[in-house]
Amino acid sequence: MSERTIAAIATPLGEGSLGVIRISGDNAIAVADKVFKSFSGKKLSELSGYSAAYGEIVENKKVIDDGVALVFRSPKSYTGEDVVEISIHGGRLMLKSALRVILQNGAFMAGPGEFTKRAFLNGKFDLTKAESIMGLISANSEAELRLSRAAHIGGVSKKIDKIENDLVSADASIAAFSDYPDEDIEGLDYENFIKMLQSARAEIENTLSTYDAGRVLREGIETVIVGKPNVGKSTLMNMLSGAERSIVTDVAGTTRDVIEDTVMVGDITLRLADTAGIHNTDDTVESIGVQRAKGRIDTAELVLAVFDSTMPLDGDDLSLLSDVKNRNTIIVVNKSDLESNIDMTAFGGMRVVTVSAKNSTGYEELSKQISEISGTANLNPDTAVLIGERQRACAERALDAVNEAINALQGGQTMDAVGVCVDDALAALFELTGKRVTNEVTDEIFRKFCVGK
Ligand code: GDP
Repeated sequence: MSERTIAAIATPLGEGSLGVIRISGDNAIAVADKVFKSFSGKKLSELSGYSAAYGEIVENKKVIDDGVALVFRSPKSYTGEDVVEISIHGGRLMLKSALRVILQNGAFMAGPGEFTKRAFLNGKFDLTKAESIMGLISANSEAELRLSRAAHIGGVSKKIDKIENDLVSADASIAAFSDYPDEDIEGLDYENFIKMLQSARAEIENTLSTYDAGRVLREGIETVIVGKPNVGKSTLMNMLSGAERSIVTDVAGTTRDVIEDTVMVGDITLRLADTAGIHNTDDTVESIGVQRAKGRIDTAELVLAVFDSTMPLDGDDLSLLSDVKNRNTIIVVNKSDLESNIDMTAFGGMRVVTVSAKNSTGYEELSKQISEISGTANLNPDTAVLIGERQRACAERALDAVNEAINALQGGQTMDAVGVCVDDALAALFELTGKRVTNEVTDEIFRKFCVGK
């Protein structure tokens, strides 16, 4: 191994009971021995893997802190290299001083994601598992955590490996056929061969089909609340966020701009914008807000269009209805605690939920409708779902190539031509899992990680 030895603080910088500095590389144990003095007098280099020593981190005979050094020996460590993890008290200054002395004694500052990148390069896990780590760390909801966990324990790898294996067998049959085209090659029966490709196609399609719902669970959904002034948009937003964030008043036009908030509804994070009430207005400031609100309808992934059930629909309502009709919209009919005067047939064919934002009733139904419209209702977060645009794009490329292979076969093209398409599909899948991936792609992936990961 020629990689230089790296070090970084592995825990968040703040005030914590413990903070950990990780050192990895050929000289990890030697570097740690220069700065860490165990109370037993034993050197870390005398310890076997998975052993710990209690001692002090020392800089020029001055003690920085006492703590525990844990020794991992290659290949049985996170990175696959020799690793020492030193736990000391979790103070910002303390950790920085300890890291400084480690860097002065032969280690280099780790780059973003460099520990995980080394683990990947040393075959500890594939890219789908590496990419799940970010989700494990940053999960904001139980569902997101379960999704990341499923990928981390190898759910995605297993799924893709299976498709790869099918395509590798297909490739082998084609190679045999191309080498000996005049012989009757056992195994290359046209019907079976096309079935194999169709089954690979179905598997890839199946994997891709859960991507969007998985993304909603991980990243949340850009949502806009629209409606005329005074229909209860701010009150609805407050019901969802459980906080008095928007200004609730009886004066039409109070919410003059887009207010951002992030709320959890069931398993889904809504990135919410409460907007100025949409109606015809001569007020210049207000009309800017109205324009912005209309713009939001076109860009949001989910529109909650609010109507006041106590009043018949007027021109402003009907105009809004036509704006949101072809969007991903849930009609929220508000003020259900009061007598209804609204003609519900106007919402025919749309998703409608009746609520009283003021009394927080109808929340469950709204939550159910949101999970249905965003596709998460049928997604089991414990199943393997592709993580991130990179993985999706690779799977999409593989699907295109398998489709081309099927078309080439059915179009009577040569087996070589079919083989080229199967190879393209394999290349895309190998890139997805990282079995065959360029340095540029790998660098790009790990650059998104933080230093210390
Ligand atoms: P916005 O202009 O659409 O944001 O409307 P607001 O949220 O400011 O609400 C306008 C008025 O309607 C306020 O007086 C609210 O208290 C009232 N309101 C909102 N939701 C309800 C509800 O569900 N029931 C009743 N009775 N009043 C409501």
